[in-house]
Amino acid sequence: GSGGRLFLAPSDADLDSARAWIAAEEARRAQAAEARALPARTRDGHTVSIGANINLADQAAFAIAQGAEGVGLMRTEFLFLERGETPSEEDQYQAYKAMADALQGRPLVIRALDIGGDKQVAHLELPREENPFLGVRGARLLLRRPELLVPQIRALYRAGRDGAPISVMFPMITSAAELLALRETCERIREELQAPKLPLGIMIEVPSAALLAADLAQHADFFSIGTNDLTQYTLAIDRQNPVLAPEADSLHPAVLRLIGLTVQGAHMHGRWVGVCGGLAGDPHGAALLAGLGVDELSMTPRDIPAVKERLRAAELPAL
Ligand code: PEP
Ligand code: MG
Repeated sequence: GSGGRLFLAPSDADLDSARAWIAAEEARRAQAAEARALPARTRDGHTVSIGANINLADQAAFAIAQGAEGVGLMRTEFLFLERGETPSEEDQYQAYKAMADALQGRPLVIRALDIGGDKQVAHLELPREENPFLGVRGARLLLRRPELLVPQIRALYRAGRDGAPISVMFPMITSAAELLALRETCERIREELQAPKLPLGIMIEVPSAALLAADLAQHADFFSIGTNDLTQYTLAIDRQNPVLAPEADSLHPAVLRLIGLTVQGAHMHGRWVGVCGGLAGDPHGAALLAGLGVDELSMTPRDIPAVKERLRAAELPAL
């Protein structure tokens, strides 16, 4: 369902209309599925890259079958959430290498740990915070806990040294100073390992980052917009609050304006911009994002066929 409505006592006419809707939806999905291997190229020839949001190597085959051209967001928190202890550098290296191998040369964007906020890890024993969403999460935690940051960056560069086309992305960046400090650590480790350079990008999830996009683009190789958090922080709505869920609208004009600014700032410096938040997987949202100039959309694999179909049916100036 897409409306989120529950009919307790549907009439015959309601049931008929629901059945007709289901049949039409199935036909639409079947049509989209047939074309899912084709690129998301608009009728006037503009192509948007399509990635998948997956965490495990064994999800890669399904994502590729759904039409993914790579992975635009591999969240690494799961490595910490699934077990009762911090994974070693070697464990992490094996997980990243397995994903890269499963993708067979396709691009892979791996996000550094985003712990805190809605993603709490008991065994890290982090101090309790009154407002964890506004606290030490994402990049802020990595910068304060080298014992978390360093093994992860080492594991990523070791996978990069094997030749995998890996890009590294940092979550919850709010200032250029954070990004520069993280870049410095990456460069030091890269030199130690004699590994090749990997593109270093950031998530745009906080209004300050979107507003400063043109400045941040001087130091980041790419951006990926996390519309889940960007919506939460722009509208001051906790993303987990069920009462406010209907108002947590990623299509709110304020959010779209920040996305527009992000794209402008990135393109000013020749950087690409993706979106890996939930809005990218909604066909209507994806069309708007393409119209705003976003270069890549990354989503749950199941959402890919419908998004590709929507973009392939469109002409860019109309979006
Ligand atoms: C986002 O915030 O939109 C995002 C993709 O990151 P996460 O949902 O993991 O916070
Ligand atoms: Mg986020």
